[in-house]
Amino acid sequence: MAQSLDQLIKEIKGCTACKDLPLGPRPVLTGKASARIVLTGQAPGTKVHATGIPWDDPSGDRLRMWLDMEKDIFYNEEYLAVIPMGFCYPGKGERGDLPPRPLCAELWQDKLTAKLPNVKLKLLIGQYAIKYHLGKKRKKTLTETVKHWREYLEDGFIPLVHPSPRNIMWRRRNPWFEAEIVPQIRQEVWKVIGE
Ligand code: SF4
Repeated sequence: MAQSLDQLIKEIKGCTACKDLPLGPRPVLTGKASARIVLTGQAPGTKVHATGIPWDDPSGDRLRMWLDMEKDIFYNEEYLAVIPMGFCYPGKGERGDLPPRPLCAELWQDKLTAKLPNVKLKLLIGQYAIKYHLGKKRKKTLTETVKHWREYLEDGFIPLVHPSPRNIMWRRRNPWFEAEIVPQIRQEVWKVIGE
């Protein structure tokens, strides 16, 4: 019998492929086969590693603010799946958390996509998700890619800057993002949820 999404997620939660993770493997991802939207960020930080709840941090608060979404919808796995580029906390580098482990996407992303047949929209949150999913279609800079977000909508993607507090300077330099683009993206997300 074919493996269900629930079974696949259970298998992933037992993954120990990366032996040298500083806090050890603790894959954090959620979703049900009925999900229409996938949130693809980078990798859990230490707080999410501790709680096991995705986006349970200041980045998640800002993302929910952008989407005008309360936690009861945000965490309803029937609507939204949370599938970052790396499922485990990767550790700290000189400039914040390290990138997600590429091995994680190699092992799991395609398998998960195959088990989510109802997805209409993938929110690509931050450079790693954008690079992985848009590849050569992305613009020279993340800012330009985000500015031209509508170009990717027909393929079911919305590229977003990461809502991390670390990106506050980017948001200050680019006020058009929250003033003009966020309301339009919010509309697209709610359209899919309401279908
Ligand atoms: S980061 Fe991904 S591949 Fe590595 S141990 Fe965690 S789930 Fe497995």
